[in-house]
Amino acid sequence: MGKLYVVATPIGNLSDITFRAIETLKSVDLIICEDTRVTKILLDHYSISKPLFVINAQNETRKIPELINKIRSGLNCAFVSDAGTPSISDPGTRVVNAAIKDGIEVIGIPGPSAVTLALSISGLPTDAFVFEGFLPQKKGRQTKLKELAVEERTIVLYESTYRIEKFLNELNEYFPERQIAVCRELTKKFEEVWRGTASEILSDFSNKVTKGEFVVVIAPINFKM
Ligand code: SAM
Repeated sequence: MGKLYVVATPIGNLSDITFRAIETLKSVDLIICEDTRVTKILLDHYSISKPLFVINAQNETRKIPELINKIRSGLNCAFVSDAGTPSISDPGTRVVNAAIKDGIEVIGIPGPSAVTLALSISGLPTDAFVFEGFLPQKKGRQTKLKELAVEERTIVLYESTYRIEKFLNELNEYFPERQIAVCRELTKKFEEVWRGTASEILSDFSNKVTKGEFVVVIAPINFKM
């Protein structure tokens, strides 16, 4: 029986990968990924050449049993997502569950994740936090925002480049007094962090080119700087 390694990869800067992640990717028989084009960039950078096996939302029902058979037949496999830690707002959970059910050993190789990086530089309390991933885009969004407005822990959210300005306006409405950290393009060339209330951030934000990937960290309800 082979093993399943769940390997965290960089969230932008290709140097942000552990020695153990590279050793693992070099040693396995097969690498499971979301998109071969994305994973090949990382593998080429580290001169790693391995067979790739694609599992994504479209094919996972069919592909997961195939993968489990491969591991059962003795292949050691590494699972990576396009960026960061698999299973964190990314594929992974269903593969890991299937492996656990089949008695396959699952080994995590830790590394970057946008949620922990943003928290660590937010300056906001990290002793207790709630990670909500992406908010629903339409149905349920306002209900969720109302619910979060009374949350007593620090809140971490992912947001896409297309909705970030709208989201900041929503934060201004639901969390007007709250300290917020908006982290853009972490570890990348155009990395930037805005800290302040939503209205303070918005006044700077609206004048700039604000494309990219975003993590938003919101202070707990009673937090004072
Ligand atoms: N698995 C990843 C992780 O561990 O962070 C998250 C994948 S999720 C599909 C992608 C979202 O994560 C982006 O839309 C953005 O909200 C956040 N993200 C990923 N990389 C980022 C970065 N370098 N800077 C800021 N946010 C990032």
